[in-house]
Amino acid sequence: MTDAAGSDNQLFDKIVNLSKRRGFVFQSADIYGGFRSTYDYGPLGVLLLRNVKEQWWRSMVQLRHDVVGLDASVLSPPQVWQASGHLANFSDPLVDCVSCNARHRLDKLDDPNVCPTCGATGSFTEAREFNLMFKTHAGPVMETAAEVYLRPETAQGMFINFSNVLVTSRKRPPFGIAQIGKSFRNEITPGNFVFRTREFEQMEMEYFVPPEESQHWYEYWCQQRMDWYLDLGMPSDQLRLRAHDDDELSHYSSGTSDVEFLFPWGWDELEGVANRGDFDLRQHAEHSGERLDYFDQATGERYVPHVIEPAAGATRAAMAFLMAAYAEEEVNDEVRTVLRLDPRLAPYKVAVLPLSKKDTLTPTAMQVFDLLKGQWMTDYDETQSIGKRYARQDEIGTPYCVTVDFDTLEDASVTVRNRDTREQDRVAIAGLLAYLEPRLR
Ligand code: ATP
Repeated sequence: MTDAAGSDNQLFDKIVNLSKRRGFVFQSADIYGGFRSTYDYGPLGVLLLRNVKEQWWRSMVQLRHDVVGLDASVLSPPQVWQASGHLANFSDPLVDCVSCNARHRLDKLDDPNVCPTCGATGSFTEAREFNLMFKTHAGPVMETAAEVYLRPETAQGMFINFSNVLVTSRKRPPFGIAQIGKSFRNEITPGNFVFRTREFEQMEMEYFVPPEESQHWYEYWCQQRMDWYLDLGMPSDQLRLRAHDDDELSHYSSGTSDVEFLFPWGWDELEGVANRGDFDLRQHAEHSGERLDYFDQATGERYVPHVIEPAAGATRAAMAFLMAAYAEEEVNDEVRTVLRLDPRLAPYKVAVLPLSKKDTLTPTAMQVFDLLKGQWMTDYDETQSIGKRYARQDEIGTPYCVTVDFDTLEDASVTVRNRDTREQDRVAIAGLLAYLEPRLR
């Protein structure tokens, strides 16, 4: 990674720069000076993010008979968070530096005695537990009874809908409920671009299993989730599974592993896979008074399923895929930047480029665009020289460029250029869909 793209710090700056310059990610409220730690996904970023989420949904829901989807609300009443333990425990230790007033999260400091902002030693206040949930009010009255919370994770939606889904989907353990959606955490130290933000998107699945099978399914999901990233092109030397030490585990978890990516600042979490036991269903059953268990008619046994939870960040994963894909290489004494994104993740799959802006080529180029657009996100660009346009498409990861030239008017064929090899094939327009289809899968 670093050989091609410079040092790790340079890579980070290049990704931030590319994101802004090419329209992947913008600082939110930019025209008002920017709202710290929130970001807007631009024309290319929204496509990349949608593709990451689509690939997750495809592998977790579409290709499986044992997982169904859900889209639960973002606002929920305090009872949910009381039962889940978030009101009491979802906090991080906050310290203030009395020397420079900077605030830090104690558990994320390299040295708990040294302020990374001003370098002062022993300048921190006692740690205070700071709850990360955003609280607001439902309805016009700002009274305690009207307090509601923005969800800090999507997972509770699956637990509180366990019975609804069980009854309506007629699934039986082992089965899962999957959800993609926004979550909100009032992070003490957001940072590293979109890695840690106060508003972000998660992709979570709760897999309900017979208690005696939980270890098997925990190992199964750790492997599945590693394979998902590898299959989408993450280099194996930049991805690892790290089992939590005993002192990192939550009291109810009998096993948690993080899928970690080698970010420019070191190994860090992309996703957590946890064996949560029966903690969540028991808590909600107790607090709601509803029965949250499963009656197995075959054995006549009633039990509370255990839960395996693969919990990933969509925005964080999109950024990691960008970093893993970024490369610079020398071609004819010039440096070319190329995003080697898997075609399934690339914002545009194809770009149609008429060789010249002459009107004579435009109608045919538009016909080619119309042919492709129903199948794939297709870009159309007739500005600047063809070399510059290839470079622009390489930089945003478009796997194929289709060039319409003057010969096209004679032979009804186009030139298809491969992003990674830069090799070109002459392909009949009539056979273009069939040519691209297996290459973009
Ligand atoms: P951390 O220890 O980094 O605060 P966490 O272990 O609390 O994170 P989880 O609760 O396991 O995170 O959330 C699951 C996933 O959601 C994380 O692996 C990450 O990809 C994503 N995520 C969590 N918090 C954020 C955030 N503030 N910004 C972006 N993504 C996040």
